[in-house]
Amino acid sequence: MSFKELGLDENILKALSILDYKEPLPVQERVIPYMLDTMNLIVKSKTGSGKTASFALPIIQKMEIDEKLPQALVLVPTRELSLQIKEEFDKLGSFKKIKTISITGKQPFKFQKEDLQQRTHVVIGTPGRLLDHLKQNTLNVDKVKYVILDEADEMLNLNFIEDIRSIFAFLSSNPATCIFSATYPEGIQNLSKEFLKDPKMIEMEGNVKIDEYFYSVKETLKNEILYQCIGKYKWDSLIVFGKTQARVEAIYTYLKDKDVSCNRIHAGLMQDERFSCIKDFKKGAFRVLIATDVAARGLDIMKVDCIINYDMPSPMAFYTHRIGRSGRVNEKGMAITFINEYDNNHVQQLKEYLHKEIPVEPFIPYTISKQDKEIISKSTKIVENKAKELKKGRMTLYLNGGKNKKIRPGDIVGAICQIETVSMEDIGIIQVQDHQSYVEILNDKGKLVLKQLQNRTIKNKKLKIQEAR
Ligand code: ADP
Ligand code: MG
Repeated sequence: MSFKELGLDENILKALSILDYKEPLPVQERVIPYMLDTMNLIVKSKTGSGKTASFALPIIQKMEIDEKLPQALVLVPTRELSLQIKEEFDKLGSFKKIKTISITGKQPFKFQKEDLQQRTHVVIGTPGRLLDHLKQNTLNVDKVKYVILDEADEMLNLNFIEDIRSIFAFLSSNPATCIFSATYPEGIQNLSKEFLKDPKMIEMEGNVKIDEYFYSVKETLKNEILYQCIGKYKWDSLIVFGKTQARVEAIYTYLKDKDVSCNRIHAGLMQDERFSCIKDFKKGAFRVLIATDVAARGLDIMKVDCIINYDMPSPMAFYTHRIGRSGRVNEKGMAITFINEYDNNHVQQLKEYLHKEIPVEPFIPYTISKQDKEIISKSTKIVENKAKELKKGRMTLYLNGGKNKKIRPGDIVGAICQIETVSMEDIGIIQVQDHQSYVEILNDKGKLVLKQLQNRTIKNKKLKIQEAR
């Protein structure tokens, strides 16, 4: 079946073709028709199988572009995942002029509040901050017709459940609720009934193809063996999971000292550092990412060659999510788990969780050569971002006036459409803020519009106009 046969609009098909999504992945083929019918769903499908687009595409299709208030709410456990999902919506919705916002903690509330006053179709965010906005009346959910819980088992976990309940209490619009994950531990199904009435269950077959290795490693030798693994395999991209921030910092310091190309992420860092770390790793700007479980769920990074569980995961569902950062979309992945002398219980739990034997083997010591050292001190690949092609022919213009000068989106459209050879079709997303406005110009007409607007007035006002940074 093709995306077209699933009933998606031309403007969505155009984005899919630029992104080189040739045909729907199996989960998308199953989920999209039900979501287009706005039904409640519980979806279980392995990591890296394309769950994000399976909910993003039907939501984009169903958005009423002229509606000012948000029509879809996507709840996720981490800020990085929120941003990633926003970016996926932006890519897939770029020809439909879908406006999205990622609302997460540790970012200025005030700017978010201003953003939320703009026309917004999809709000993606972490529960705590979304709830703050709901309580302060800066987010209106009266028009929400879809609620998505991604990484649903985590969202219904103790850490989040109270916030999720409170968020649902604000929803009077009776939206379709769809939940997604690769894992559903026992008990979650029951809990989900609280939020989903008569859901349709979609459970996709199949496991991720990952070669799993289990090395017995003495606790005190973990750093040394990790270093030897890196030198031996020289992966282009590797994620090492440690159990606490302090562990992650210690591993990072050790590898940095050894001149390994690496960086780290955990909740103790500044948010800007966290975002740029993930961005750099996605580009391939460094080899080894050392992380706590903030990076275990949902992050989609091209071709992570291997995952190392430096410390055993807990709870065990995190095993699936951590190693699922490797082996995305039918690629083969690799995972190594270090098992120390105190891990007997963990091994037993993992065995029960995976329903299989855990073949623990020793790591054969490896001597790192000068050449190895040189290779692992540098990154190798910088990945070109396909999304760039979607931006082709687009330019965003900045205007130094907004609500303060009583400007409305219609005034900007009106002025632009008066320019010869320019029409509605050439205008993308418009944002009118308190003191400034932004308008996106499509089809390579940015320069022309910029030049022409500089000689014209908008609502009888002369504004300073330039290309936005
Ligand atoms: P999941 O949420 O199931 O772990 P993601 O939604 O993160 O998986 O998708 C994994 C990868 O698959 C992403 O890089 C995404 O761009 C890619 N992808 C999604 N749909 C398609 C498709 N139809 N064809 C090709 N690649 C796709
Ligand atoms: Mg996902």
